[in-house]
Amino acid sequence: MCGIFGVRNTPDAVTLTKLGLYSLQHRGQESAGVVAVEANGHARSVRSMGLVSDMSTTQLDGLHGTMAIGHTRYSTTGSSSIENAQPVLASSRGGHIALAHNGNLTNAGELRVELEELGSIFASSMDSEVVVHRLARSTAQRPEDRLADALAGVEGAYSIVTILGDTLLAARDPRGWRPLAMGRLNGARVFGSETCALDIVGATYERDLEPGEIIAVDDDGERSIFPFERKELKRCVFEHVYFARPDSRIFGGSVDRARRELGRRLARECPAPSAELVFSVPDSSNSAAIGYAEESGLPYELALIRNHYVGRTFIQPTQATRDAKVRLKYNAVREVLEGKRVVMVDDSIVRGTTTRGLVSLVRGAGAAEVHMRVSSAPVTGPCYYGIDTPSREELIAANHTLEEIRASLGVDSLGYLSLDGMLESVPGGPGGFCHACFSGDYPTPPPTDPDKLRYGCGC
Ligand code: AMP
Repeated sequence: MCGIFGVRNTPDAVTLTKLGLYSLQHRGQESAGVVAVEANGHARSVRSMGLVSDMSTTQLDGLHGTMAIGHTRYSTTGSSSIENAQPVLASSRGGHIALAHNGNLTNAGELRVELEELGSIFASSMDSEVVVHRLARSTAQRPEDRLADALAGVEGAYSIVTILGDTLLAARDPRGWRPLAMGRLNGARVFGSETCALDIVGATYERDLEPGEIIAVDDDGERSIFPFERKELKRCVFEHVYFARPDSRIFGGSVDRARRELGRRLARECPAPSAELVFSVPDSSNSAAIGYAEESGLPYELALIRNHYVGRTFIQPTQATRDAKVRLKYNAVREVLEGKRVVMVDDSIVRGTTTRGLVSLVRGAGAAEVHMRVSSAPVTGPCYYGIDTPSREELIAANHTLEEIRASLGVDSLGYLSLDGMLESVPGGPGGFCHACFSGDYPTPPPTDPDKLRYGCGC
């Protein structure tokens, strides 16, 4: 997954982009980058592995311009390298091209082979680079038409910000898989994956990009086009469940409200009659646990403390480091847990590693009963559209019954929210959401070679 940000028409473009990226850090911690276009028309980039704060201040201080885009990246382990850091910056006969992408293109493999047969040489293993090559080949005059050319026939998920010459463009795929918000800051146009990126720079949120929309911003003003065939809406429900920040609005609704409702519905579907208190696995399930507590009438307690200087567990490459990282990341509050029958709410169980580690922490701190409640349906399939879920074999719910999962996690009871309950709880639901990783209902044919996608995933 990734975070993207773009701004045009302000002398503070680089600073604002850096700030925007800080607020999108949760969407990717593998690499970060900024491309800015200077007054003389030169485009320059700073990219580095790691966090936004790991980008060289000296290099960023040397970056100037009134237009910039930025990216935070989070992909699978195989492709974690500086060549795959974004924004991509290239020069073409039509001027420079800079691009930052969030999502996964499901036919990138085929498109790449086509381009290679035409002589293209790729500098990275990212799916996003396919779009850059197609931009370079387009002979359309208007920048928005060049982007429409480049994206024609591209399948899968994309929210994109791109710079073509002097124009800033933003685009969202016709199914609207990934969020992309637009706002205004005085005379400047601002785009960000989530509204929290607009808030941090003081921009006013205006609206989301529509699915299938391309917006171009340059000295001639702003133009919006819808060049693609209309497709069924498939916004990613996992953005509401886990990925986005609760202080954001995505897909026209509040993430906090969505998560609270998921928690309330979970309490109705899966009560825990013997429990005395509820706590969350911080931070992504805080709002859902509050919803569960409100609905069940149980007190909400802080029983797990998260170390904020450790990244998301999932990103660790091997199982051994993942296990160790649960303890590195969380500790239990004995005074809250000792002798208590507790409900532990998490937003999702993927491999089960985190839950297993947490249950042993919670029991070690003296909990008498542990009732695990999950504010999403069981994850039974990989995501091909940008969420970094592992292969089916590694997904605990793909291969085990509820009772087997309960026993393997070591909890007294286990309850997942139903698929319908999940879809009915999110704003704008139940229709119009992609729930493939929960239901197996994939909106596009899965990539012919999913492993290839893993090496090449944009984010
Ligand atoms: P696991 O240990 O594999 O079951 O991971 C479940 C935990 O990881 C939960 O606490 C989730 O909040 C979190 N999680 C779920 N999906 C992802 C993801 N794609 N990337 C990172 N963390 C995730």
